[in-house]
This record gives sequence, structure tokens and C-alpha cells, in this order.
Amino acid sequence: MQRREFLTLMGLGGGAITMGSNEIFQNLRNGPSSDRTPAIFIGHGSPMNAIADNPFTQALTSLGAKLERPAAALVVSAHWLTPGTTRVSTNPSPPTIHDFGGFPEELFQQRYPVPGAPELARLATAAVASVRVHEDHEMGLDHGAWSVLKHIWPNADVPVFQLSINWGRPPSYHYALARELRGLREKGVLILGSGNVVHNLGRLNWQAGAAPVYDWALEFDRFVRDRVAQGDHQALVDYERLGATALAAHPTNDHYLPLLYTLGVAHPGEVVSEIYSGIEMGSVSMRSFSLAQA
Ligand code: ZN
Repeated sequence: MQRREFLTLMGLGGGAITMGSNEIFQNLRNGPSSDRTPAIFIGHGSPMNAIADNPFTQALTSLGAKLERPAAALVVSAHWLTPGTTRVSTNPSPPTIHDFGGFPEELFQQRYPVPGAPELARLATAAVASVRVHEDHEMGLDHGAWSVLKHIWPNADVPVFQLSINWGRPPSYHYALARELRGLREKGVLILGSGNVVHNLGRLNWQAGAAPVYDWALEFDRFVRDRVAQGDHQALVDYERLGATALAAHPTNDHYLPLLYTLGVAHPGEVVSEIYSGIEMGSVSMRSFSLAQA
């Protein structure tokens, strides 16, 4: 039970004493309408973060300790791209997908045995009126989801479902689609975009120690940081206007688009809190943040 609900039951919440019992039980089931889950963006970086203990994974662990437990998490990950269609996972027991190669065996041994959330996934399908969202009963969890969730909720006790990215559609399409999912936050669904604010694997700097950060990486990372802080989502939808800087930061935009889902479910005036920031190997920004009601 969330603290506010407890206070409401105790008659300590504003106006709670005048509530009828039906309303109280309704609130117990759904949470008060003013109670909205945060929207989160995580820069997931290397799959090795799944088994690493570093300042980034420690930031995820402390995020999990601070978050009120949601009914479920809806993850939009850079690693579930379905050009031409949008899909939602309705698998009640999504298997852990090891969708990478060339990493140590220990990484392939990892399992995140979390339940799915088919009913909430169908609620997401119903919430989207502009396009048909197809149910996918087979889909498991890609590493953009489980490699971060295992640090946030190590007990794998928060049900998870994913929404795919109809890759090839313009950024404005994804932002508009996300807006249709906003209401899920009032149903206890935490929406998590998992990608990277800067993601250019072709320019990774393999130099040992702290690799120098490319100017364009720093510029684009700051552009996103500042526009998110200002609530200037239009500039972030129109990020390609930055020209060569945008193209260097995202030669392909699979890791950028999840950011537009986190922003699309935001409400005006929400508070931005940085979870983590830093640029790895010169060209991958690990910037992560949450948006929550004040
Ligand atoms: Zn990735």
C-alpha cells in the first residue's frame, strides 16, 4: 500500500473523511488519480552492465530502493525494433533474451525470471487509438530491458511488458504514440525508455582509462540535458535539425527513440531528476533521468 493511500484510509488525507466506502476501495485498487508513477529514461550502454558493479549500476540500485513499487513496468527498448508494426508483449513469463554476441559466458548465464503483465499490456493496446498495436505472446525481455531492471528490482518481482518500436517512422510519430500511453501512469504502470542519449558504436574509443569525449558527443548530451530540463520536447523531437552533430550522436536512431517515449508520457511541470550521467568510451552517453509530479 502506498503511503498516501494509507493516510487516506486513516482519514488523514485531505477530504478523505467525506469519501464513501466505494470510493475508498476504488482508490485502493487504482490509486488516487493524482498518484502517477514516474517516467524514466535509462541509458543502458554495454550489456556487461548487467553483471557489473560500477557507479552506473549502483545508481540503478539506489533508484530501485527509492521508487514506490509500481503495478508493472512498461519498457520501450532500443533492442525491440519491428519496422512496419507496433507490438506489445503479452507473454505471462517472458524469457530472458541474450540478444548480443562476443561477451563472456557469465553474461549468457544471466536470467531475469520476472512475470509478464498481459492484462496491463492489453490496457496499453486499448489506450492507443491512432494505430493498431499487435499482441505478441512469444516475446521475451531483451537486454535493453533486463540488464537494467535486474539492478532496479533485483528480486524480479515487478511484472514487466515491452512495447516495440515501429522503426523507420519519424520521431514525431513515436512521441505522439507515447502521448496516448500517458494514462497508464495513473494505473500504476511505470514507463521506462531504455536507449542512450548519445550512441555511436563506430566511434568507440578503446583507449584504456577515461577515454576523451568527442565534442559532438558532449554537445548532443548537453543539448538533451538542457531541453529535457526546460521541457522543450519539440526541440528533442526535431533533434535532426542539429545536422552533423545529431548524425554523429546517432548514425541510426534506435537508441534515441526510447527517449521520446519517456518524454511523450510526461506532463507539463513535472520534476526532472538526474539518475546518472557520464559518457563512456567517448561516444556513449549513460545519461539517465526520471520525470515525476512535483
Ligand atoms: Zn543498446
